[in-house]
Amino acid sequence: MVSKEASEKNSPLTPDPWPLIPDPSLVLPMPSIRRLPQSLVNKIAAGEVVERPASVVKELMENAVDAGAKRIDVSVEKGGTELIRVVDTGCGIAADELELAVASHATSKLASTDDLFSIATLGFRGEALPSLAEVSRLTIRSRTAENDSGAEIEVVGGQLSPVTPCGCPVGTAVEVRNLFFNTPVRRKFLRTSQTEFGHVSEAFTRIALAWPEIHFTLRHNDRPVFELPGPEGWLERIAQLLGRELADNLIWVESTDGEVRLAGYVANPSYSRSNSRLQYLFLNGRPIRDRSLMHALGEAYRGLLVTGRYPIALLTLEMPPELVDVNVHPTKLEVRFRDSGRLYSQLLSALRTKFLATDLTARVPSVQEDPSGAHDESRATQLRQELVDWAKGEVASWPSRGRPDSEPSRQAALSAGSSSARESPLELTQLGRKWAPATGGEEEERDEPPDAIPDGPETAYSTDRGPHVATANWPRALQVHDRYLITETEDGVMVVDQHALHERVLYEQLRERTASGAMETQSLLVPEPVDLAPVEAAAALEHQDLLAELGMKIEPFGGDTVLIAGYPAMLANMNPVDVLHTLLEQLLSGGKEPDRRDLLDGLLHAIACKAAIKAGDRLAPEEINALLEQSHLVDEAHHCPHGRPAAVIFTREELDKQFKRI
Ligand code: ADP
Ligand code: MG
Repeated sequence: MVSKEASEKNSPLTPDPWPLIPDPSLVLPMPSIRRLPQSLVNKIAAGEVVERPASVVKELMENAVDAGAKRIDVSVEKGGTELIRVVDTGCGIAADELELAVASHATSKLASTDDLFSIATLGFRGEALPSLAEVSRLTIRSRTAENDSGAEIEVVGGQLSPVTPCGCPVGTAVEVRNLFFNTPVRRKFLRTSQTEFGHVSEAFTRIALAWPEIHFTLRHNDRPVFELPGPEGWLERIAQLLGRELADNLIWVESTDGEVRLAGYVANPSYSRSNSRLQYLFLNGRPIRDRSLMHALGEAYRGLLVTGRYPIALLTLEMPPELVDVNVHPTKLEVRFRDSGRLYSQLLSALRTKFLATDLTARVPSVQEDPSGAHDESRATQLRQELVDWAKGEVASWPSRGRPDSEPSRQAALSAGSSSARESPLELTQLGRKWAPATGGEEEERDEPPDAIPDGPETAYSTDRGPHVATANWPRALQVHDRYLITETEDGVMVVDQHALHERVLYEQLRERTASGAMETQSLLVPEPVDLAPVEAAAALEHQDLLAELGMKIEPFGGDTVLIAGYPAMLANMNPVDVLHTLLEQLLSGGKEPDRRDLLDGLLHAIACKAAIKAGDRLAPEEINALLEQSHLVDEAHHCPHGRPAAVIFTREELDKQFKRI
C-alpha cells in the first residue's frame, strides 16, 4: 500500500522532486577504502587469467616452453575439470624458489622496467601460478640439473603447505586438480567435459604449432590424443594437428621488411572455412590474434573466396621484441605493433606477389571432383582461366560466374533429395520433378539434369514473354547475370534473387519437416568415419541429439573421429561429410550458450544456404520455372532466411513514372 506521504511526494503540488541538496537521511555512509587481502587480489587476477581448463593448459605449457623444455607432456582428465598435468624437461625450479613461484607478481623473466619493453619469453607477469593456486589444488614437483633430488609444494585454494623433498627427474611437473572447487559460480560455467576438452585441445594445438621443434604429447582420460615428435618439421606438425589433406594444399610465403620477417603457409583458395578459426598467427613463438592482420589476409584473398568464407593461414612473424608491446592483454593474446600499418602492407603484398607467381590453375577443383558431373570441361577450363587472369591482376574481382569454391553444383542442390524420391517422396523433390518435360516424363528422367543448358542469358530469354506461356521448355523469367530472375507480374515487374528465393523455399520445407519430427534419415550402408578437429568432434558428440533431429546420425568412433551412420534424406545428393562439416561450422559459430531453438534454426539456415542454388549458377528454363512455382509454396518468399529480400517488385505505375509517361 502506498503511504500518504509517499503519494504526496509524487503529487505535482509537492516541491521539486529532485532537490539539489539531498535529504541527509538518504545519503549512504561514506565507504572507507581498504587494501584487499592478497587472496582476494589473486582470485580477481584468476578471473582474468583462468577462464577454463584450456587457459590452465595454455599457461602451464607456456611456462614449460619458457623453461627451455625439449619435451612437454600434457594430460587431462574429464576435459581438464578434474585434472590437468603438464610435465616438462625444462630447467626446473630450485627448492628454495618454489614458494616464490606461486607468490603473486613473482617472476624470473623480468629483471628491470626496461625488460618489459623487450620481452622474449611467453610469460612475464608472474600471475599464472598464484592465480591457479587460488582456485584449485595445485602441486608442483621440480628439480634443477644442479640438484640430485627435487622438491614439492602443494597449494590448496591459496593455502600453502611447506616445501618437501621428493625424488623426480630434472624438469617440472605441475598438477592442477579440481579447478574452481572453491569458486562454485565459475565451476558452474564449465561445459561438458567434451567441450572443455575441445578447448584444451585447441590451446594445445596453438602452442604445438608455434614450437615444432619441441616434442609434445596430449592425453585425455588416459587415452593418447596427440603424439608429436620434435624433429619432423613444421609441415609435418601441421599435418598431424590439422590434417594431411590441408597440409598438402598449403602455399609457402615469406617476406622480409627491415627487421621484420614474415613466413608461413596459406591454404590454396579451394580450402576455406566459414569462420576464421584456422588463421594462426605466431609472433616470436607466441600465438596471437590480430584483427588488422586478419583483415589483410582477407584482402589478399579477395575475389578468390566467395563471401562468408575465410582463408586458412599459419603465419609466423619474427621481429625484435622492442617493435611490439605484448603487455596489453591479460592473457597476452593481443599485442600492439609499433607500426601495424607497415605490417599490414607487408602481409598483403607478400601474399599478392605469391599468388601472382603461383599457378593457381591446377588448384581449382577439377571436373571429376564435382559429384553431380554438372560442369562440363569447357566451363572448368574457363573457370581456371579466370582464376589465372585474376592472379595476373587482370581482373579486380571475381566475375559472378566463376566460383573458385567447390560448392555442390546447382544440379545437386535443386534436386536435393531426389535420389531418395522413389522411396519417400518429399516436397523438396518437387523442384527436381519440375524438370521433367511437361508432357510427362518417365520416373528415370526426373533425376537427369536438363541437357540443354542455354549458352547465355539471351537464350534463356523467351521470345514469347507472357507469363501465361508456361511450357516447360520456355522460361517464365529472364535470367540476368546468372543471379536474378526477372518476370512479369500482374501489375509490374518482379526481380527475384535466385539464391535467396531457393534458400527460403528449402528453409521452409526443412523447418516444417523438423517441426513435425518428419526429417527422414538416409542410412549409410557402411557408416562413414570422419576425422574432425577436436573442438568439432566435441561439438558433434555434445549435440548428437540435435543433429539426429535433423536426420544427421553420428556416433563416436574413438579419438576425434566420428561415424556418420545416416544423414538427412532431403540432402541425399550432397556429400554426407560436407553436410556434417556445414552443420559443425554452424554449431561452432554460435555464441556461448545458444538455446536449443536458435541452434536448430541456425542449422536449418546452414543446410538451406548450402543446398540452395547460388548466385552465378546458370539455370535451364525448366529450373527457372520450377523455382518460381516453388515460391508460391512458402509464406515468406520475399525474403531469404537471413532477412535479405528475395524479390523486389517494380509496379507498372512506378515504371511509367520513371519514364515520364505519367
Ligand atoms: P610468469 O610465467 O609470468 O613468470 P608464472 O606464475 O607462470 O609467471 O610462473 C612464475 C615463475 O615460476 C616463472 O617466472 C618461473 O621462474 C617459474 N616457473 C613456472 N613454471 C615453470 C616451469 N615449468 N619450469 C621452470 N620454471 C617455472
Ligand atoms: Mg607463466
